[in-house]
Amino acid sequence: SGKMLCVAIFFIAAVITLVAISVVQNKPIQQKYKYGIVLDAGSSHTALYIYEWPAEKENNTGMVRQRHYCPVKGKGISSYAHNSSGAGLSLMHCIEEAKRKIDPAKHKETPVYLGATAGMRLLMEQDPKSAEKVLSSVKDTLSKTPFDFQGARIITGQQEGAFGWITVNYLGENFGKAAGTMGALDLGGASTQITFVSNQPIESPDNSMDFRLYGSDYQVYTHSFLCYGKDQVLKLALEKQLQSGETLLQDPCFHQGYSQDKQFKDVFDTPCVKTINKDDSKENFTHNGTGDFAQCQSSIQKVFNFSQCTSSRCSFNGVYQPPVVGTFGAFSAYYFVMNFLNLTGQSLEDTKRNLADYCKTPWNEIKQRYGERVKEKYLSEYCFSGTYILTLLENGYNFTEDTWRDITFIDKIEGSSAGWTLGYMLNLTNMIPAEAPDTPLMTHG
Ligand code: AMP
Repeated sequence: SGKMLCVAIFFIAAVITLVAISVVQNKPIQQKYKYGIVLDAGSSHTALYIYEWPAEKENNTGMVRQRHYCPVKGKGISSYAHNSSGAGLSLMHCIEEAKRKIDPAKHKETPVYLGATAGMRLLMEQDPKSAEKVLSSVKDTLSKTPFDFQGARIITGQQEGAFGWITVNYLGENFGKAAGTMGALDLGGASTQITFVSNQPIESPDNSMDFRLYGSDYQVYTHSFLCYGKDQVLKLALEKQLQSGETLLQDPCFHQGYSQDKQFKDVFDTPCVKTINKDDSKENFTHNGTGDFAQCQSSIQKVFNFSQCTSSRCSFNGVYQPPVVGTFGAFSAYYFVMNFLNLTGQSLEDTKRNLADYCKTPWNEIKQRYGERVKEKYLSEYCFSGTYILTLLENGYNFTEDTWRDITFIDKIEGSSAGWTLGYMLNLTNMIPAEAPDTPLMTHG
């Protein structure tokens, strides 16, 4: 039995050695990371995002994280319509920053994508030649970087909505879970998107997208309203008030005491505004504030058309929309505005009351309170923007006192910004599997 003991000890020692070897081998000394870059060419600005993920885990949900954010200096690329080479040049400092942030050994294998949204959609409508030149300029710049350039294109409103929805649900690790997904509300300067899983069949194919993600099927409702971003809606609202041809505008959406000379062409020079300036002998008008929330709300309601609807129900402008259902994340300008106004966690009624108080505050008091830390242009527009957000959500999308509670205003989830860019990259790099990665090949009954 001494011999038996020897054999047993040898056997146990062998097993321990094998286990130890396998543990060491499975634990890489240095975690291998991969990177991807997406540029969000928005209507008012461009931003560069660097994402990173552990190389072996790229198919697991929630593994891709935002590593770095670089805001491009100056305006959006569509503002370079008459100086297209400036569009590409404007990206250079963020590209240089990305070169420093990513290990040079990885540059060649790091994909870079640029997606342009509603600012470029509008320029494409208004002046397609300039739009093409701007796109060529950014393509030229990006193809000369050490990264793996994968294209610069104008994405559709449908893609913008769907990828924003994928982003928030990927980061929230909602895919393949019984609890369901979160709807996505995105507000930009030139367009706005609403995307959610409806509990009713979707009547219009234009508004319907099907996905199979991590083993579950999703049919999402999505719509993008071109011209209903907050900067374009401001122009629409000013146009409505300027129709009488006057050169003095008393605007309830701006604070009492606010007074600025503005140019008619800044209001009328966009494909979103359909009327032409009748009297072009006058170049300027005076924009004065009166600071009245209720009147501001009725002036904003005029930019929506509620009268025609050929489906069973509509949001506005004849666009089909099923009733909102489930939780929603509201990001980009929804967040910037509601966060500034400190209105991110209140009932709809309290939100309105507080916004009315804010709008009523005289302009010199607003400037005194916030002027040091907020740019004057943003500051002057928060009453308008907040009122637009409330009107869009309540009158446009039909959120109620009850469903308002299901909206969360979000900036980031686990350190990554909510927006379409992450979903766009996950899709183009095939990082979202249709089936759950750890699903057994065969399951019981
Ligand atoms: P886009 O450039 O199309 O993505 O739109 C972004 C929108 O958010 C524009 O209307 C910007 O003016 C607005 N925006 C960006 N930062 C802020 C901020 N800090 N406060 C208010 N609005 C902002």
